[in-house]
Formats: sequence, structure tokens, C-alpha cells
Amino acid sequence: MCRRRHVRTVYNHGFTHPEEEVNCYGTNCIFSPNHPKDCTGERCKTKCWQYHTYPQQYVVNKDHDCPQCAAARR
Ligand SMILES: [Zn+2]
Ligand SMILES: [Zn+2]
Ligand SMILES: [Zn+2]
Repeated sequence: MCRRRHVRTVYNHGFTHPEEEVNCYGTNCIFSPNHPKDCTGERCKTKCWQYHTYPQQYVVNKDHDCPQCAAARR
């Protein structure tokens, strides 16, 4: 099923990116482009994912300054 991903990059300071959507491309998920158009109603409700899973959060640590700080210094 599809999920939202929240990435936080930590350079010299933390930097939070906007949430991005990660598509599963499954046939049993209503957010997927591969979900059959004729899959609707009760059948869809019982067999398909109707919601996104809880946003996944992860932190990426970098050992250099953030691109904006680096650009501002130039
Ligand atoms: Zn999905
Ligand atoms: Zn469905
Ligand atoms: Zn910065």
C-alpha cells in the first residue's frame, strides 16, 4: 500500500523536506495507478487498501553544510 515519506536531512543543522508520496503500484490499493477502474463499492472496500499507512520518517545525516548555507556563503 502507498505511504507518505518524510525525510529529514541533518547537515550542519536540520532540514526537513516536504512529505513525498511513495506509490506501491499494487492492484489492491485505491491510490495506485494499477488499481482496476472497475474495482469499486463493497468489494473494493474489503479487498483493497483505502488509506495510506502511517508516514515513514527517516533521518539522513550529512557531514557537510546544507546546500543553502553553502550557496549563501559563496
Ligand atoms: Zn498503494
Ligand atoms: Zn479496489
Ligand atoms: Zn543551511
